[in-house]
Amino acid sequence: MAGQPIGFGPGAGRLRDTFNEIQATATARGGNARVEESLLRKARITIRFGTLNHCLFDEANPAGAVCLDGTLVPEDHTGPLDWRCRPDRCHNSVIGTEHVAIYDSHRRTQLKLLDAPALSPCRKELIIRELERTEAVLDKIRKETP
Ligand code: SF4
Repeated sequence: MAGQPIGFGPGAGRLRDTFNEIQATATARGGNARVEESLLRKARITIRFGTLNHCLFDEANPAGAVCLDGTLVPEDHTGPLDWRCRPDRCHNSVIGTEHVAIYDSHRRTQLKLLDAPALSPCRKELIIRELERTEAVLDKIRKETP
């Protein structure tokens, strides 16, 4: 929707830059909505919509997809490995405004869990790691909120 923020994180920044470029090119060509639409098609942006983020993974240029780092990708697999998604680190990640409340709630849950008495060191470590990842996403949101 016009005027609405695209979202947060590096993926959102890339999307914003692409849309701005398209708009500038269309304007420079004295274009209208049809010209913009045609430029948008040529930009070939792929967005996978998700519950915790949206993903701009590009099959033609998979470099930098954190979910593919340091793992063996099954031979017949194409696309990202959703279950290894790292919304806090990946340059393809777009945190939508609809995701903010989820991260906020997740952070509170992790903090509550950390308060539980007699946590095993292993469990505590897992919660802290999860909390750090959540905080990293929330930090991006805070920094990018005008
Ligand atoms: S880590 Fe997540 S955002 Fe990045 S490419 Fe993989 S699925 Fe997409």
